[in-house]
Amino acid sequence: MTTLLRGNTDPGEMTEGSERASEAIPHSVYRPQSALARIPAAARIWLLTAGIATAAAIAYVVFVRHLDAPMTPIDLPWPLLAFAVAAAELRAVEVHFRRETHSFSLSEFPAVVGLFFVSPGGYLAAILVGSAAALLVGSRRPVIKVAFNLSNTMLMAMLSMAVVHTFGSLDGLPDLRDWFAAFGATMSATILTAISISTVITLSGGASQFQKLPEMIRFGGMVAFANTSLALLAVSILWLDPALLWLLALPLATVFLAYRAYGSEREKHERLELLYQASRILQNSPEMDSALLTLLGHARTMFRAELAEVVLYPRAAGEEALRTRSWHDGSSETMVPVPGLLMDPLHERVRTAQSPFFHGPSADEPSDLSQAMVSPLRGESELIGSLVIANRLTEGTTFSADDLRLLETLAHQAAAALENGHLEQSLAELSRLKEQLRYQAYHDPLTNLPNRSLFLDTVTERLAAPVAGRSTVVLFLDLDDFKIVNDTLGHAAGDRLLAEVADRLRNVLRAEDVSARLGGDEFGVLLDDGPDLAHSMTVATRMIDALRFSLQIAGQEIQVGASIGIAVARSRMDTADELLRNADVAMYTAKASGKNRVAVFEPTMHAAIVARQALSAELARSLGRGELVVYYQPIVELATGVTTGLEALVRWRHPTRGLIGPNDFIGLAEETGTILALGAWVLEEACVQAVKWTAFGPPGRDLTVTVNLSAQQLAEPTFVDDLQAILARTGLAPDRLVLEMTETVMFHDTSTTIARLETIRALGIRIAIDDFGTGYSSLGHLRRFRVDILKIAQEFVGPADSREDWAFAGAIVALGRTLGLAIIAEGIEDVGQLEHLRELGCESGQGYLFARPLAADAVTRFLQASAEAQTSRMARPTSEIEPLPAPPGSYEPLPSPS
Ligand code: C2E
Ligand code: MG
Ligand code: MG
Repeated sequence: MTTLLRGNTDPGEMTEGSERASEAIPHSVYRPQSALARIPAAARIWLLTAGIATAAAIAYVVFVRHLDAPMTPIDLPWPLLAFAVAAAELRAVEVHFRRETHSFSLSEFPAVVGLFFVSPGGYLAAILVGSAAALLVGSRRPVIKVAFNLSNTMLMAMLSMAVVHTFGSLDGLPDLRDWFAAFGATMSATILTAISISTVITLSGGASQFQKLPEMIRFGGMVAFANTSLALLAVSILWLDPALLWLLALPLATVFLAYRAYGSEREKHERLELLYQASRILQNSPEMDSALLTLLGHARTMFRAELAEVVLYPRAAGEEALRTRSWHDGSSETMVPVPGLLMDPLHERVRTAQSPFFHGPSADEPSDLSQAMVSPLRGESELIGSLVIANRLTEGTTFSADDLRLLETLAHQAAAALENGHLEQSLAELSRLKEQLRYQAYHDPLTNLPNRSLFLDTVTERLAAPVAGRSTVVLFLDLDDFKIVNDTLGHAAGDRLLAEVADRLRNVLRAEDVSARLGGDEFGVLLDDGPDLAHSMTVATRMIDALRFSLQIAGQEIQVGASIGIAVARSRMDTADELLRNADVAMYTAKASGKNRVAVFEPTMHAAIVARQALSAELARSLGRGELVVYYQPIVELATGVTTGLEALVRWRHPTRGLIGPNDFIGLAEETGTILALGAWVLEEACVQAVKWTAFGPPGRDLTVTVNLSAQQLAEPTFVDDLQAILARTGLAPDRLVLEMTETVMFHDTSTTIARLETIRALGIRIAIDDFGTGYSSLGHLRRFRVDILKIAQEFVGPADSREDWAFAGAIVALGRTLGLAIIAEGIEDVGQLEHLRELGCESGQGYLFARPLAADAVTRFLQASAEAQTSRMARPTSEIEPLPAPPGSYEPLPSPS
């Protein structure tokens, strides 16, 4: 019968787990799964302890309390038994197998003897006092551990008494029944204790311990069996002739020494095993880094330490010490350079030490190593580094002199292996890796060109060493419409384009010219040139020409182009950053004045850019300030002149600049993302108005409202939901709404776009392609993107007298007819154009001829007037429609930056 946890397994991990859990739960261990797992480890152990204590109390009240004292020839006082219990516990032999600590003790011996000679009450008192004394003497144990052990011990004592009193006779010299009862008691206590220890370790947050149960029971059972046999012998002797008891001293001492011998044999075996493993690891692994790490892991386990580390000292000046570490929680670091590590007092000591030593923190030298063993790693001729094992995991134990000797052997082995060329190879590998990392840090992987930081470094160097009569020049190149390619054809297409551009740039530049990819679709070139910049201009023009090409990507023909800005360092005070920024500003100006151009930086350019930035900030605020307004342009049936719909066109009523047209701010809104809020607002506003104009529908039909969409809006995952919410809020019937988008929108992330457009159409909303024929369009797309309406771009509605300008419009009308799509012509300004379109068979149109875009109240008047006119002159031909004068509120477009 096992009164204490000795003879079995000491839950060393239990306190470790619970202590850690109470501070911070280690990430590697803590996996919240069940309700149980959410309770802190310490609380879980307390719960188990309380459960066990309650079970013991119940056993006492219900059963043990009523037991009679055994019949005995002698009266054994309980304090004597308590003393024997404590003594057996304190003389336990601990054996550590890797992470487990088994211990052998003679504890069953007094426990079994007591069962036969002490009254139940005295027995319990003796076990409680003896075990408590053993637990409290010596190293301090956490309260939780003492409580757990004591309650478990008491429960086992109850169990043993119950078994012995139930199955044994306890009425004289022990007979066969008593023997079986005693063995039954110790064996069942052993098994139950093993289970409760596995449970407590598992609960404390470690991995499940139950797979170790058979091993624990086998081990504990063996010891319990031997102890119980000796105890039964003692009981028999006490019955027969207590004076002969001394005869037992020899067998008891022999068993105790056998336990010790077995323990140290095991320990030796483990140590040999470690050294063998170490040599195998060091000899056989090709990579020193991983070999070291494996070795450290083994050493950590063997010494039951929290941390094992190897530091390799630098071999040449300028190099740093490399540290490899392995922690108990599974984390590690490999060959990490640690600057200044050698100044550490620990390593100063290593350099003078001839043999391994113990090391602990001191007041003047605090450290995270509570107790460490340190060994220098000495090669044939020099000190290679150090090997450190630190922080014993099993509490209450320290590293011993034996441990230190083992460490020394290990250090010899490791040093020899490290010297045998492995180290050289490993360090060479490391410097190759470093070089590779350096290259990666300074180059763009896609184009293999230097990146922005290397470019800036090079420009800085060049600026620092000026040559008389020459200036440092930076060219800043940006691709035209790259964003569209990237957004519509995908990043893979964008990447292919960038790689092609880089190749072409390399072809026009000389080997000594420095070029770089600055990020996105921006490239930089560093040149030096005379004051007239003739060379730079030539290079820039050659670059523009080289980049004017078209490329087939994903079945699409992509027209490439670039704009270049040039900036010259004027004074020694210029920095690389400034130079690059100036070139960027010049590029921006070049782009604004048309694509495929070059511009040289002038200080006045800044102002234009700053103004644009200010405008974009104002635009972001315009919505909240109610500065945006929606105008509506009537769409009419060409045959009758009846208004069938209205196109919503946004304007910005700027407080100082007056009315600004969408062409001057939609692009800006798209760049800054304001377009999402702006677009949603326009959509809702247009729906609200359309509901107000419901009564003005053409005979037998509903008046529609058309809203322009940006690619970004459609790309929003919430777009369809938002759209439905707007329809629900405003009460507009979906079939009165038309969404208009340009062809570029159609390329946007094709499969999602198709699905989204289909969902929208399924709601009853119609889709129109704006400015059809001007974008990246191809007829193939009309097959994949099902739309309802094509709008003929204004540029294809030519002057009435020019035949060839009309060819395209005619083709679109024919196409519409073939595909069953409605056609709307845009920009109809005169009657000649109207006639021509009617001849072509175009049904609808919009343009200044009918009406300019009008503010909402003007639209109401317009609709009223046309309704009246309609009733008064039903048969009047539309060719007599007079162009309307421009209404107040028309805007002049802003001058573009130049
Ligand atoms: P759009 O959708 O092609 O709109 C037609 C443009 O042609 C409008 O310019 C309109 O005022 C103009 N227009 C109409 N009839 C005539 C005519 O007979 N002659 C001439 N020369 N022009 C005519 P606006 O209002 O400046 O809009 C420009 C573009 O801005 C629109 O082109 C549309 O793409 C975009 N846009 C307007 N409102 C919005 C909006 O709320 N969201 C988005 N994303 N884009 C919008
Ligand atoms: Mg439009
Ligand atoms: Mg249009």
